[in-house]
Amino acid sequence: METIAIIGGGAAGLAAAVAAGEAARARGCAVRVVVYEASDRVGRSILATGNGRCNFSNAVVDAARYRNGAFVAAALEALEEVAGAADAPAPEAGAAAD
Ligand SMILES: Cc1cc2nc3c(=O)[nH]c(=O)nc-3n(C[C@H](O)[C@H](O)[C@H](O)COP(=O)(O)OP(=O)(O)OC[C@H]3O[C@@H](n4cnc5c(N)ncnc54)[C@H](O)[C@@H]3O)c2cc1C
Repeated sequence: METIAIIGGGAAGLAAAVAAGEAARARGCAVRVVVYEASDRVGRSILATGNGRCNFSNAVVDAARYRNGAFVAAALEALEEVAGAADAPAPEAGAAAD
């Protein structure tokens, strides 16, 4: 049996471990996925998210729910501008872009 080693049991490492296991199972492969974590437990920083309320993939994205609300509010505003620009109709072929 192959072994897949994941270094670091944070959000990324844990997600990678689940994805690796699922991908192997989908291919009918038997693998052992091992997460190596330097700390005494995995997912420690996940517990710090949302001021202790663990708001990864929050269903209601609200700047007030984040530790640095002002920064998050500015980031969300910038994202809305980018999303608005992406929704704008593409220039027609041959038309000059601004
Ligand atoms: C105070 C605070 C509040 C936050 N709030 C939010 C929030 O509200 N919403 C949100 O989406 N995000 C929030 N974040 C950010 C979020 O926690 C991080 O983006 C996320 O945890 C990053 O995940 P990661 O797996 O990339 O890294 P980490 O969570 O840092 O995981 C990396 C892991 O690897 C381990 N490691 C490092 N080196 C080694 C090694 N050599 N061998 C073995 N293990 C090792 C570490 O111990 C750690 O457990 C917050 C972060 C902090 C610090």
